[in-house]
Amino acid sequence: MSSPLRGTVIGTDAVDQLQESFRGDLIRPSDFGYDEHRKVWNGSIDRNPGLIARCTGVADVRAAVRFSRDRDLLVAVRSGGHSFPGLSACDRGLLIDLGPMKGIRIDPDARTARVQAGVLLGELDRETQQFGLAAPSGIVTHTGVAGLTLGGGTGWIQRKYGLAIDQLESVDLVTADGEFVTASEDRNAELFWGVRGGGGNFGIVTDFQFRLNPVGPYVVAGPVFWAMEDAPEVLRFYRDWIADCPDELMTIAVQRRAPDLPVIPTELVGRHITAIVACYTGPVEDGERVVRPLKEFGSPLLDLCEPKPFLAHQMMFDASFPHGWWYYVRACDVAALDDGVIDIVVEHGERIASAISSVAIWQMGGAVARIEDGATAFNGRKAGFTFNINGNSTSFEGFDAERQWARDYWSALGPHHTSVYVNFLMDEGEDRVRQAYGSDKYDRLKALKRQYDPTNFYRLNQNIEPN
Ligand SMILES: Cc1cc2nc3c(=O)[nH]c(=O)nc-3n(C[C@H](O)[C@H](O)[C@H](O)COP(=O)(O)OP(=O)(O)OC[C@H]3O[C@@H](n4cnc5c(N)ncnc54)[C@H](O)[C@@H]3O)c2cc1C
Repeated sequence: MSSPLRGTVIGTDAVDQLQESFRGDLIRPSDFGYDEHRKVWNGSIDRNPGLIARCTGVADVRAAVRFSRDRDLLVAVRSGGHSFPGLSACDRGLLIDLGPMKGIRIDPDARTARVQAGVLLGELDRETQQFGLAAPSGIVTHTGVAGLTLGGGTGWIQRKYGLAIDQLESVDLVTADGEFVTASEDRNAELFWGVRGGGGNFGIVTDFQFRLNPVGPYVVAGPVFWAMEDAPEVLRFYRDWIADCPDELMTIAVQRRAPDLPVIPTELVGRHITAIVACYTGPVEDGERVVRPLKEFGSPLLDLCEPKPFLAHQMMFDASFPHGWWYYVRACDVAALDDGVIDIVVEHGERIASAISSVAIWQMGGAVARIEDGATAFNGRKAGFTFNINGNSTSFEGFDAERQWARDYWSALGPHHTSVYVNFLMDEGEDRVRQAYGSDKYDRLKALKRQYDPTNFYRLNQNIEPN
């Protein structure tokens, strides 16, 4: 049986033809730089596209789409390359690489940002923070704005300003026919509903326009560490402490072995810890007051929660998720950190073997939950917490064991699962994609898919099949 990720071979004549209407680089397997450009962030994904089309703008994207459609080529679309299951890579076929499209324009008066598809989170934050502004985004600076936003986009300022999609004003998109479409609340409104959570199913988004909001430049942020043995008390305290916290406060509970980083004292490195990482998006003095109970609870091993530039906090997790390691994730939402969930968290956290496996438990609620559920395709606005269970290794060695640990942890949480965030799915099949959207939204997305992509040309994504 042929793999859905394997396309047909692209002949030299065809490549020459594309070159006539293409401004960016076209990279063949025999060309210098092929290996560098075919790689994605997750080192466990190793695919070899027949051609890499490095787009410089909308004209290149349209040329690449028409070229592929006319030849019935398998197409992978890449912006930041951070898809956990490697859906922005293919064997043979055409890789449409938006990486060179790095344009960012901030309008500080209108408080908007126009952002091209190849921009990474850290690149956007750097520009917006020039004006003390930010668009909601994620927690690792080398993630792509495009893929993150199209799935929803969770991050440190979500409880104050919502998800990335909640501050999205419009997108420009190239359809499966190569047509150029703008979608906003006023233009192609159903498409705009669908791209806010529906991923890359409806076309290639070339440009995003975001509303910006004041953030920083200093925030009170960072982790407080406790020994894993203290996790039962820490997590119960944490649950009660955040129950009625202000929207400015966003937290993520982390379980892992303390990483080998310059900020971690040598004697702590490798020790199993529970950390609560906080970020207060508001005045520093208010933030210091709000996080004080956290810092004073029990006997922390380390306290790095303090005033710092928002840009520095955004980089905090970068070193823990570098390009090229082998990554596997299991994810689910739960309604609450009740005692049953905490018992599971404690039991499986203690079993972390790898120095680089970790669990992130995201606090949801706030502005995310206040937006009407039907307003966007994103599902799970009422989730209490989102689990991201990462079974990682630095190479193939030990990867199977880490994956098994992640699966076991996730299965133990089974009775508590509510939904799942689509951007945290692996390649898990149609039922899980349906679960991520819920049946009603999934059916509505299917109808939209039939309208914009009836042949499923864009299928290397969390796929919504047209039929
Ligand atoms: C280290 C790490 C940290 C993360 N942190 C967060 C976080 O804080 N918050 C969060 O919400 N998520 C987070 N994620 C998940 C992340 O949102 C998804 O992996 C997302 O798909 C990455 O986007 P990308 O552009 O880098 O990915 P890519 O691999 O380039 O693309 C991912 C998917 O989107 C499609 N796609 C990409 N660009 C376009 C486009 N321009 N138009 C249409 N379709 C497109 C691709 O075809 C593919 O199916 C994280 C992932 C990683 C690996």
